[in-house]
Amino acid sequence: MARRKKVYEGKAKILYEGPEPGTLVQYFKDDATAFNAEKKDVIEGKGVLNNRLSEYFMNGLNNIGVPTHFIKRINMREQLIRAVEIIPLEVVVRNVAAGSISKRLGIEEGTPLPRPIVEFYYKDDALGDPLVTEEHIIAFGWANQQDMDDMVALALRVNDFMSGVMMGVGIKLVDFKIEIGRIWDGDFMRLVVADEISPDSCRLWDMETGQKLDKDVFRRDLGNLADAYTEVARRLGVLPTNSAPLGKPTLIN
Ligand code: UDP
Repeated sequence: MARRKKVYEGKAKILYEGPEPGTLVQYFKDDATAFNAEKKDVIEGKGVLNNRLSEYFMNGLNNIGVPTHFIKRINMREQLIRAVEIIPLEVVVRNVAAGSISKRLGIEEGTPLPRPIVEFYYKDDALGDPLVTEEHIIAFGWANQQDMDDMVALALRVNDFMSGVMMGVGIKLVDFKIEIGRIWDGDFMRLVVADEISPDSCRLWDMETGQKLDKDVFRRDLGNLADAYTEVARRLGVLPTNSAPLGKPTLIN
């Protein structure tokens, strides 16, 4: 096969030109980074797991009418997506206090929030993705008032869907981050969920034990990240229940 043209390489994924105009191929790497890439490692099998998990969540969203960029999974590490114009914001939804909100506002991790809270961070690694308000977003032209309303509505629909799916397998969706893109049909523009939805961008806690099943396992050195993601995938039926963690030799009993 002819070598594809790389369009963009990020910390965890690579985008290649797609087979048709308006499409891209999204490749999931095994690289894990945290704290603005100060902490780095290669976690064998992570890319395969995130490709499968993101496929599962994006397909589910598409099926209930929440638009996403996802078209189909191509192979173990790649999926076909629609090319979008990414809005330079990370949209975070929180159900339970953890991470930066706990630090910033002094709320103990694990405290349920009175309602889901939607936050926006400006995507800029050099600045460490600072928290921004609607005022900044509109004043600097990253999105307009209509986009803001649409982004909040989209984020809350993703939250309802993801919370329900995870609750069904005994996992609490503490918080998550999505990215949102614009797709143009002539003059008509619509917003869709883009990038990925995976344990890299969610906080997932076992409802019974509180065990962390997300990237905090890597950030806080709590164990093997691939094992945690494999557990999420197994519970969702995305992997056969008897499969060994991807990337490790498979032991047949
Ligand atoms: N998040 C992410 N990418 C980022 C920052 C945050 O995917 O660059 C996710 C993170 O995994 C968590 C949620 O967004 O599920 C909220 O993260 P938080 O603001 O608490 O920041 P953190 O503690 O991860 O620095």
